[in-house]
Amino acid sequence: MKRLLDGLERYEDMVRPYDLERFAALAKAQSPHTMFITCADSRVVPDRMLGSNPGEIFVVRNVGNLVPTLDVDAGSSVPAAISFGIAALGVRDIVVCGHSDCGGMKALLGDPVEEFHLRRWLELARPDVAQWRGLGREPEPGPEHDQLSRWCARRQLDHLETYPGVRAARERGDLRLHAWWFDIAAARMMAWSPDAGRYVPARDALSAALRERGEAPHDPAAQPG
Ligand SMILES: [Zn+2]
Repeated sequence: MKRLLDGLERYEDMVRPYDLERFAALAKAQSPHTMFITCADSRVVPDRMLGSNPGEIFVVRNVGNLVPTLDVDAGSSVPAAISFGIAALGVRDIVVCGHSDCGGMKALLGDPVEEFHLRRWLELARPDVAQWRGLGREPEPGPEHDQLSRWCARRQLDHLETYPGVRAARERGDLRLHAWWFDIAAARMMAWSPDAGRYVPARDALSAALRERGEAPHDPAAQPG
């Protein structure tokens, strides 16, 4: 608790004065451009990695960054967040972000989980794990759970496509889906590149995608802040 108090004091004394104007503007509405679905893992910190400000990223977190397909009964929390993000907020990009050393992925590859709720939740990924095992994969560097995590992040994009709102927005050209993977040891965000057939540094993937769309990778009008 001491650490929490230290952090609060530091925030209120040093950062809050600069945040007041920003939060006053955000007080009645949000308009995030991106939904970021990631693991509950404490080492994955979207705003820090993306340099984003309050109001920019709609974050959905759960163990293993899983997206239930609409045909399974997995509770309504994640489907509700996805539907809200699409229909009410109109996010333009959805990122599903896995990460290295994921406890959820380790549990999927290890002994059966005893805790009921965690076991039931992770069951959602069983079909993905089975598919991954049957792939006849090229050898990849790193531990198996990292390889599974990279695969699962990609599979969740297919799960997202089971949501009618996602499909409709995609068909209108209003929504893009991305599979990312955070390499904790390297503190580097990677992104799946369909062209390269592998994960590449996310900044390279985004720059290439923007160039392909005829947009400048860097917006000269963007102000840091
Ligand atoms: Zn995790």
